[in-house]
Amino acid sequence: MAFDPLRRALLTGLAGAGLLALAPRQSPAATGLAVREIADGVFVFQGVSEMATPKNHGAVANLGFVVGREAVAAIDSGGSLVEGLALLAAIRATTDRPVRFLVATHMHPDHIFGNAAFRDAGATIVGHRNLPRALAARGDHYLKSYRRQLGEELMKGIEIVLPSMLVEDRLEIDLGGRVLELRAWEAAHTDNDVTIYDVSSKVLFAGDLVFLGHVPTLDGSLLGWMRQIPQLAAIPARAVVAGHGEAPADWPAALDPQLRYFGVLAGDLRQAIAAGTPLAKAVKTAGRAERDAWKLFDEYNERNATAAYAELEWE
Ligand SMILES: [Zn+2]
Repeated sequence: MAFDPLRRALLTGLAGAGLLALAPRQSPAATGLAVREIADGVFVFQGVSEMATPKNHGAVANLGFVVGREAVAAIDSGGSLVEGLALLAAIRATTDRPVRFLVATHMHPDHIFGNAAFRDAGATIVGHRNLPRALAARGDHYLKSYRRQLGEELMKGIEIVLPSMLVEDRLEIDLGGRVLELRAWEAAHTDNDVTIYDVSSKVLFAGDLVFLGHVPTLDGSLLGWMRQIPQLAAIPARAVVAGHGEAPADWPAALDPQLRYFGVLAGDLRQAIAAGTPLAKAVKTAGRAERDAWKLFDEYNERNATAAYAELEWE
């Protein structure tokens, strides 16, 4: 079976990383992630809308890959090395074309903790011009704080792997008769967000610039995010793969729920700031009307409000 050498390599890799102890038969790295083909040559894995845990292998973000005539590009590597290897196994089960690129949509661990799997497979890692600096500043902290969240076992083999090809503003990647248009955005979800638009299928991989169902998380600039939404909406996609939540979804309608959330959050905070309500009190109630519309609202809303308050205070 053509799959055998790879499977052996995967298992060897897992054994090396000490991960074989995790029920290898059920391990997603051995079997490959459950991906769906959403358009010709465009595949998506939909993560669960949960906090990362040992049980879900950190597989909480949406990932994907696009197959061209000559090569494959993966989009995000997942929240653990196990998940990265599992995405790679899913690609290998689909095509024997080389995985030439891994595009990192941004710095967050649930999107980049599997990077080492792709580096070791010979892929060029591509990211925003700000990504190396962001990971230099945050990488060690991510490794430490996720050790508590994911546990020692799942953390094994996870490395912060920097991109070697940077998107300054726009960059095209040719997979052979298939061009991906990459775009680097100004601060929004983070200060290193990249989107990937597959011209052939008109599918947009938006990374965490788009959230569906899972409450948006703010680690960049609320005003920057809101300001750039019209530019995002102008991308002539017919479908979007959000960073979290249902994928694919209609475009640009997928932007509506988060735009509504941002409006409520910013409106509440502006009112609180005008009334002289201190931050610690304002963030307890800001955005509250949106609570039932989102998963993980209680986990993230107050943090979002805290970040946004500081920004709106200086408007
Ligand atoms: Zn993110």
